Amino acid sequence: MTQTSSPAIAPGSTIGILGGGQLGRMTALAAARLGYRCHVYCPEAGSPAFAVAAAVTQAPYDDAAALDAFAAAVDVVTFEFENIPAASVERLAARTVVRPSWKVLETAQDRALEKAFFSGIGAPTAPWKPVDGLPQLTEAIAALGVPCILKTRRLGYDGKGQARINHPGEAAAAWAAIAGAPAILEGYVAFSREISAIVARSPRGEVNTFDIAENVHVDHILDTTRIPAQITPEQAERAAAIAHHAAVSLDLQGLLAIEMFVADDGRILVNEMAPRPHNSGHWTIDACITDQFEQFVRAVCNLRLGSTERHSNAEMKNLLGRSIENWDSILSDPKAKLHLYGKTEAREGRKMGHVTRVFPRWKNDGK
Ligand code: ADP
Ligand code: MG
Repeated sequence: MTQTSSPAIAPGSTIGILGGGQLGRMTALAAARLGYRCHVYCPEAGSPAFAVAAAVTQAPYDDAAALDAFAAAVDVVTFEFENIPAASVERLAARTVVRPSWKVLETAQDRALEKAFFSGIGAPTAPWKPVDGLPQLTEAIAALGVPCILKTRRLGYDGKGQARINHPGEAAAAWAAIAGAPAILEGYVAFSREISAIVARSPRGEVNTFDIAENVHVDHILDTTRIPAQITPEQAERAAAIAHHAAVSLDLQGLLAIEMFVADDGRILVNEMAPRPHNSGHWTIDACITDQFEQFVRAVCNLRLGSTERHSNAEMKNLLGRSIENWDSILSDPKAKLHLYGKTEAREGRKMGHVTRVFPRWKNDGK
């Protein structure tokens, strides 16, 4: 149901954010620019968002007393991390406004629900089958063919919880590699590019998408995002239409990122979604009138959405692990926009920051 009548949560109010990573940190910074206070809830000490928040709760996601106190201290709750237990979201929703809704999170938490949702709105995905045991995996491999990818239904990120199968004989090893968790098997998509669409929808029903970005993954982790994506105007329109349609169908109140493949045959296939700001949208901070974090805040607080107009082309590179130690040489390019997340421990593959370079956008370079 569209809540056209729900009032704006005015600047000066407190936004509760579940999750304390870099996405929460950049959301809190954007919220502060609009005059909001953020209260960040996260189990881990020293979380990146704690350093820029007006208030923090360090507690497990299933701590009833901490959740109740959090709900009482904020005007709205949102997420920078979607794997919050159902019972906790229910508990919060009984006490305060929660955006986006549980239905959206529930769909995004489970790859099977997610894929069924997209098929249901006419947005094709890779062929897939649910897998709950080794015999079923063997059948699914026979049905989908190789290569294929076994993915846990829940909790996967940056390629974790996945096993590629190149030969039917690898079934048992793949099943062991994901520790026999409920999973899906996906046919391997022959793709030329990976792209993503980010869309905001507010409770008052405004919908706005950012320009389509092109993503390069290395070792299953996002390495580079470039804008504009090197795709046809029809493909860009299709990707944006899928995002718009998904946001409306989910009755989204917030921000939604959708990762997609541009298949070799030119079709756009949906890979997965995240109902929150996304790594592939960091370029918007430096290249758009309104960035993804501000748009997220506006949508969650039911303000009018901002213009997503892109004033520049851009290239965003993730800085993983110890690569941030090169901050001085990155800054030797005075046009490099360096963003660091304040994480103390530079574990290998950990997202420590990103750097965006913007380029003039000429009149005829399309969307
Ligand atoms: P994660 O939650 O880890 O991001 P993804 O499903 O997005 O999981 O997979 C990570 C990356 O693995 C994708 O960005 C893509 O490069 C590759 N990949 C995933 N699924 C497929 C597929 N069905 N066919 C080809 N490549 C895939
Ligand atoms: Mg992904």
